[in-house]
Amino acid sequence: MSNSKYALLPIFSLVIFFGCGPSDEDFQILDTANKVVGASEPDEDGFIWQTEQFADIKILRYQIPGWEQLNKRQQALVYCLNMAGLSGRDIMYDQNNRYNLRIRHLLENIHTSYEGDRRTIGWDRFETYLKKIWFSNGIHHHYSNKKHQPEFSQEYFDHLLSSTSNKCNDELRAVIFDPAVESKKVEQDGSLGLVESSAVNFYGPGVTTEEAEAYFASIKVEGDRSPVEYGLNSRLVKTDSGEIVEEVYKLDGLYSDAIKEIIKWLKEAQNYTENNMQSIALAHLIDYYVTGDLEKWSLYNINWVKDTEGDVDYINGFIEVYNDPLGYTGSYETIVEIKDFEASSRMQTLMENAQWFEDHMPFMEEHKKSEVVGITYNVVNVAGEAGDASTSTPIGVNLPNSNWIRQVHGSKSVSLGNIVSAYDKASGGGMLAEFAHDEVEKKRVKAHGALAGKLHTAMHEVIGHASGKLEDGVETPKETIKEYSSTLEEGRADLVALYFLLDEKLVELGLMKTIEVGRAEYDSYIRNGMMTQLCRLELGDDIEESHMRNRAWVSNWCYEKGEAEGVIRKYVREGKTYVDVMNYERLRELFGELLREVQRIKSQGDYEAAKNLVEGYGVKVDLAIHQEVLERSEALGIAPYGGFINPQMSITRAESGEITNVEVTYPNDFTDQMLRYSSTLNFLPTVNKLN
Ligand code: ZN
Repeated sequence: MSNSKYALLPIFSLVIFFGCGPSDEDFQILDTANKVVGASEPDEDGFIWQTEQFADIKILRYQIPGWEQLNKRQQALVYCLNMAGLSGRDIMYDQNNRYNLRIRHLLENIHTSYEGDRRTIGWDRFETYLKKIWFSNGIHHHYSNKKHQPEFSQEYFDHLLSSTSNKCNDELRAVIFDPAVESKKVEQDGSLGLVESSAVNFYGPGVTTEEAEAYFASIKVEGDRSPVEYGLNSRLVKTDSGEIVEEVYKLDGLYSDAIKEIIKWLKEAQNYTENNMQSIALAHLIDYYVTGDLEKWSLYNINWVKDTEGDVDYINGFIEVYNDPLGYTGSYETIVEIKDFEASSRMQTLMENAQWFEDHMPFMEEHKKSEVVGITYNVVNVAGEAGDASTSTPIGVNLPNSNWIRQVHGSKSVSLGNIVSAYDKASGGGMLAEFAHDEVEKKRVKAHGALAGKLHTAMHEVIGHASGKLEDGVETPKETIKEYSSTLEEGRADLVALYFLLDEKLVELGLMKTIEVGRAEYDSYIRNGMMTQLCRLELGDDIEESHMRNRAWVSNWCYEKGEAEGVIRKYVREGKTYVDVMNYERLRELFGELLREVQRIKSQGDYEAAKNLVEGYGVKVDLAIHQEVLERSEALGIAPYGGFINPQMSITRAESGEITNVEVTYPNDFTDQMLRYSSTLNFLPTVNKLN
């Protein structure tokens, strides 16, 4: 049959249903066979940030800035923590669904041994299905929680099975093909039965929501002011006699074989710790994995919070509970982090000069602090991720989750710097090319945009939020300007950053080499605030999120105030709207004027003025512009979800066993990395017999 004929049959599965057999579309050659889709152009240094795109997913890479600044011992520590993390990879698959590992093994087996034609539509669909499973650690979508439906036919699947001498029983086949089986990972509609309707593997067969809740209620100690995180590390099952018991994740418990590996690497990490507090925390974590005792998990967290001196940090354990419909059990995850040395030195410079900035604020004199102290903020760079944090990753982490530990002992909050910048680098190109108005602007953003963004963040956090004071007798902004306090404060910090980004002082301090960096930030900020950020909103919606609001009210206010003088020009070329900053010095003055006013509003608690500013410039969206932004960004075909290929580490050991060298490379093939992980970290081959 010809291609064109099949093009007339959009609902192809019907054809299979009626048994048209192996002549189906899946066996035809794909026009674009073996072409990588969606890879980005190499950057100035030849690095490719996005390697491919499939379904609604893009695959990105990140680098580890500062790796060379770690000494050999620290690099060995990172390596061991990373191996500990990766050793638990399969736990996450099994937690997500009890069929995940079996299905993944089967598909991987087919993938590595199939000797038939790999240029067909069916193979492409098969590979996409497997990649989706790798991306989300299982058969369900990581975000929507819905089951991935394969697009290849059952006939094609049978062909793959028979050509590779694999078998698939009816139970497993239904899990793969029948939309009604294991249909949703986490069910949040209580009327459907939270436990009964969720496909996650935190509850064994036959356990009801009622029984699970009753069990958890029974183990809680009333009035305990330092409660453990009940149920965090176990699967709830029903015994033959109908009793509900916990199968604890621990050595010699559930997932023992993977946990044994995790413990092995954490123990080796002990040889390379940077300080005593780090060793103590790590020892508690090992104890916890050995015993499964949640008191030891609390102890670990208390000590981990105090472990702030080293350049290397990590999270490792069963942590976030949102995959459990009842919110008790943690998903396995690891992130290994190293200090962002560049951001730290930038922060140090700003801290030392905080008073200079305060003295030179465009504020009214009575709103300046006579003694200001900069605010520290934490940026780290990721060196490796696994489990729930991979391949889809958070961009910031704030832990521990235990409330009483946070209150009594504090918490650690970090932003994952290299992940954020990898996202920017991968996606920025297309949006920039589409929305920047001319070559000069594009060149400037390409040359200086990355530093401009980092400087903006540092100024915003260290100087912006720390600056200014309230007038005597004025209550806190939460009480005076209420619902506008958060967007006003974020806008105030942005304005501080913008105001000084065009100041020679930053060049003098060595934070940037040229004022062009500031200009690049002005271009990006205005373009984003007036236009591009609208691509994140649905047509017709108001702007709600406080940062998005402040970018809008800052940009729109300046556009309006400078319109008569032509400070920012808005024009249409070939049916497309562009904004163009025409006068940077004058725009800086406008930022200063607005900053002075916003500080006045905060210092005096002027609710009406806050409301007028935010409602007047930061909430409503011009429908025509919004529609245009959506159309232009959709046409770029940028996938909404991103996941990352991890750097690859290999080591050299001395005869004593000591790690003497760690080599980092940046692989660029997602499939290769996943297949290698699956074959080298295959620690739970028989776990399904337990379920
Ligand atoms: Zn802020």
